Amino acid sequence: MDTIHGTPASPGIALGPAVLFKKAKVEIVRRRLEEADIEPEMARFKAAIEASRGQLEALAERTAKEAGEAEAAIFQAHLMFLDDPAIVETVEDRVRSQRRNAEAVVAEVTAEQAAALAALPHAYLAERAADVRDVGDRIVRNLVGVGGGPAGAGVAGAAGEEADPASASPGILFAHDLAPSDTAQLDRRLVLAFVTEVGGPTSHTAIMARSLGIPAVVGTGDVLARVREGMAAAIDGDAGSVVLGPDEAASRGFERRRQEATARREGLRRLRDLPAVTTDGRAIELAANVGHPREAAPALEYGPTGVGLYRTEFLFLDRDTLPDEDEQYEAYRAVAEAFGRYPVIIRTLDIGGDKEVPALGLPRESNPFLGWRALRISLQRRDLFETQLRAMWRAAAHGNILVMFPMVATIGEIRQAKAALRAAREGLVAEGKTVGAKLPAGIMVETPAAAVAADILAKEVDFFSLGTNDLIQYTLAVDRVNEKVAYLYDPFNPAVLRLIDKTVDAAHRAGIWCGMCGEMAGLAAAAPFLVGIGLDELSMSPPSVPLVKEAIRGMSAREAGRLARQALDCESGEEVRELLKSLPTGREG
Ligand code: PEP
Ligand code: MG
Repeated sequence: MDTIHGTPASPGIALGPAVLFKKAKVEIVRRRLEEADIEPEMARFKAAIEASRGQLEALAERTAKEAGEAEAAIFQAHLMFLDDPAIVETVEDRVRSQRRNAEAVVAEVTAEQAAALAALPHAYLAERAADVRDVGDRIVRNLVGVGGGPAGAGVAGAAGEEADPASASPGILFAHDLAPSDTAQLDRRLVLAFVTEVGGPTSHTAIMARSLGIPAVVGTGDVLARVREGMAAAIDGDAGSVVLGPDEAASRGFERRRQEATARREGLRRLRDLPAVTTDGRAIELAANVGHPREAAPALEYGPTGVGLYRTEFLFLDRDTLPDEDEQYEAYRAVAEAFGRYPVIIRTLDIGGDKEVPALGLPRESNPFLGWRALRISLQRRDLFETQLRAMWRAAAHGNILVMFPMVATIGEIRQAKAALRAAREGLVAEGKTVGAKLPAGIMVETPAAAVAADILAKEVDFFSLGTNDLIQYTLAVDRVNEKVAYLYDPFNPAVLRLIDKTVDAAHRAGIWCGMCGEMAGLAAAAPFLVGIGLDELSMSPPSVPLVKEAIRGMSAREAGRLARQALDCESGEEVRELLKSLPTGREG
């Protein structure tokens, strides 16, 4: 029995024979073209582009149906590469001027583009590099006639070579890496789970696995050297572990947990329309984090009672021009209307740090998380800020919208932001435009300065929302995207807990509510502490809503309060975790 640990990427338990993922190897033959071959070669290239387009459109449609619009968006991005002059025109130029065959040139050009993107120090752009490689691979496959999809058990080729379900049996797929398009093509009847040697939990592949409901473990290191085709395997997608050749006792344990997990998921579905109320009657709002209007409808399936964080910067990424006031208005209005009477908290632009907006051409900085980001940019680029605030005021006429400012460190920033908010309304009214009657304003508490001085800042705002993703990195001095120091990044560290407690306390003393929209809000294990110190709202990735609701509905707020006080006196994160486990959170289902 061989146990391997990786990163949990998609929850669930699976047992079955190992299936090694084989991407049909494409032989690229390099040819020199005669003058007479050039036009036919161009036609062949164009036909391959069109074939790729057809496959990607079909994939987008299928993914939208099975996993939702948000997951299908990746293929829209791939489709855009098919029209990108940096790829298409460069290939055409080289085929003509260098008289080389299209597949050789496509492979070369897309590899160059991907390498250029991967060299940029931003996770977001590195992901785009994988997308360019994926698209290049598809065009080459269409040129050489092996189809645009990968081969291997459980994978349906997008070019039509469906894997024969009768000849293939269900198994656990092992791969070095899976491109998002490989993942979208996995046949859920055949792929019980997958394991990859590389990758992180926030890659598109991991996100897609979660939406497709396929358990997954990523970043296991050299698992392919240890697994053989057909050997028994088991994975725990919650713990991030993989067992090769489990003995009988281990197999029985996995099977029992698999059945329990299935029953639990079914049970959670029944919680969808029930409130998040503790056994002694304290209600907590559970809201969803969204980044795009297309995410609103799928999010509602999990039963959130609002949007606690609408990350507007996603409207600005991945494009060469900025969205104008009307486009932003439509995007904000769409989410507000989808959520009806429920509150939708729209955060003003939070760029900088690890989020880059190509259209703004921001200068590179040596400490971007401590630099010109978020509200600091908005207060200096007044054109951007005013456009966004005007769009929010107009959208507020169609729903229950609140505005939230990110990365606040001083009271002066809040005052300036609120003055801009008032001025935006006055401007619209003077122009005779329809605006919302009110637009309550809050701040993210995500700098230690804001948490420590929360009593001062609370007087200026209508609500707080704790941004723990940043609060943890600034409190513990741990860059949130640096895996070398990731072991120190701990939401349960008592220093972090004390700042959270201080913030909630200051909010309540000032008579305002306090929520949390960092990833910590979606940790069921943290719920006893968060409920215990009195958070009013928790906003999280939508699939976490039922899990956190289940924990809340099973606990007593009084008991949680007692435990939370003890947690604040613990010496370490480990001690806090152990302590919080002692609170009964009776499960329903
Ligand atoms: C946070 O910092 O916790 C947060 C929610 O914002 P972001 O992750 O977008 O920085
Ligand atoms: Mg943040």
